Amino acid sequence: MSPNTPPIALIFRAASFAAHKHRDQQRKGAEASPYINHPLAVADVLASEGGVEDAVVLCAALLHDTVEDTQTTHAELAAVFGPRIADIVMEVSDDKRLPKEERKRLQIEHSPLLSDPAKLVKLADKICNLRDILHAPPMGWTVERKQAYFDWAKQVVDGFRGINPRLEAVFDAVYAQRPMLGRV
Ligand code: ZN
Repeated sequence: MSPNTPPIALIFRAASFAAHKHRDQQRKGAEASPYINHPLAVADVLASEGGVEDAVVLCAALLHDTVEDTQTTHAELAAVFGPRIADIVMEVSDDKRLPKEERKRLQIEHSPLLSDPAKLVKLADKICNLRDILHAPPMGWTVERKQAYFDWAKQVVDGFRGINPRLEAVFDAVYAQRPMLGRV
């Protein structure tokens, strides 16, 4: 897109690009809602609860799972949205060739090193994932598994405190609902 593309046009281009890329995927919850609901929720959290207005961050939020979970490449994102947005998406993408536990460990290790836009996307992503576990958990998840996810997400977020106090407070409020035996 040209550098003169209005921010709102860029945001809708990202939403529509992501919707197309994720068109055959569903969320893990029992409702199996369309996957695009998740990136939309992440961008919504940033804008509505974090007061984020930067179109680059909002586009990166909408696109944040396209490389990790679809065939999208960095070059493709860079061609459509420019290198800045493409780079942020790469920063928040796990390397799926690595085993899951290794990917989770690396997220904790790398979170302090992320750029500020990538930290914002990561923070909103974790907020949405915890909310999903509370309200539409993946089928078959035990309380222990939910607890482990909550604790891991907190370790990732604790690596970059100070980036957006409003969103961090939102994260802490959601984390405070951490599932407990007998409370679920
Ligand atoms: Zn995500």
